[in-house]
Amino acid sequence: MIPLVDLRAQYRNLRHELTAAIDEVVNSQVFVNANKVRSFENACSAKFGVENAIGCSSGTSALFLALNACGIGPGDEVIVPAMTFIATAEAVSACGAVPVFADIDPGTYQLDIASAENLITSRAKAIIVVHLYGNCSDMDALTSLCRKRGLALIEDCAQSHLTRYKSKAVGGFGAAAAFSFYPGKNLGAFGDAGMVVTNDAATASTIRKLIDHGRVGKYEHSIIGFNHRMDEIQAAVLLVKLKYLEEWNACRRKIASRYCERFQTRGLKVMRVAAEIECSYHLYVVEVSNRDEVIEAMTAAGIATGIHYPKPLHLQRAYSSQSRNIRLPIAELTSKRLVSLPIFPALTEAEADRICDVFLENSKK
Ligand SMILES: *Cc1c(COP(=O)(O)O)cnc(C)c1O
Repeated sequence: MIPLVDLRAQYRNLRHELTAAIDEVVNSQVFVNANKVRSFENACSAKFGVENAIGCSSGTSALFLALNACGIGPGDEVIVPAMTFIATAEAVSACGAVPVFADIDPGTYQLDIASAENLITSRAKAIIVVHLYGNCSDMDALTSLCRKRGLALIEDCAQSHLTRYKSKAVGGFGAAAAFSFYPGKNLGAFGDAGMVVTNDAATASTIRKLIDHGRVGKYEHSIIGFNHRMDEIQAAVLLVKLKYLEEWNACRRKIASRYCERFQTRGLKVMRVAAEIECSYHLYVVEVSNRDEVIEAMTAAGIATGIHYPKPLHLQRAYSSQSRNIRLPIAELTSKRLVSLPIFPALTEAEADRICDVFLENSKK
């Protein structure tokens, strides 16, 4: 079976290095938010080109912390794309604010900036841009819209570690950005982990407090925070893997360009990636009109597939009360047509070719 993502192959190659890093933490008996987390934060701020990187317990926590530190709270609206993992909207709800769902662009599958602009009311305080599948929006247009309308821009970088826009890594374009290191992401921990990055020192200092019970001393608490801390073992694992991220993303791009070439010559619709974007291809998605058939045939041939995502957020029961009359035609159509194919650094050329063969034999545009 070719899986959608193969974590075992990566582990096999790095086992000794990872085991040594974990051993070091176990021997130190220091487990939470200490030296390893600081080292990983410093490595990330250098790698992603941001002033401050703050390790935390998950990507969802990172989104919550970014919004909270930007002052998002009850009575506020935050515009989010309807096509994303639900965590993007949940973080808004967790702040007591309301997520307002925008449509996506039919070519890039990223936030439709015109749709977002139409949704701005006097209650709107921020826009969350999700760099979905490792792709990226038109960040010049988006940053200028946010500046013009006085909105905070928050980036959800859970699927876009080292995606670049005009040679600059995502994460530094807005007020703050959230990364997830869930095991299946391009950079994955051995459990849950996340990170907030920001170029603003005051925001960073608030986030550091929010992560650890609002602490300013051992039992001195200046604000009401929570426990969103990162574990030392996760930081140790991530510090090892970070060195390989660039190389792994290059492997993903190579597989993606192989897929794109074969699918486009057959007239299939693949994701548009603008010339100024270096996509990190967290997922490889392609549109078909007969998705159930394709998935069935691929499964029978021993090839795993996925759907990201089968139901846009405005149609989820969790958000039904606030989005009853919303129509987002592109998100609704696209969610019925996209299928995700295996993509991970250790996928061989022969496997990629077999995936293309089976896929092309069974898919209809
Ligand atoms: C994975 C993901 C998250 C959540 O990250 P966790 O670490 O699982 O909490 C948020 N947004 C997007 C787009 C994701 O893919």
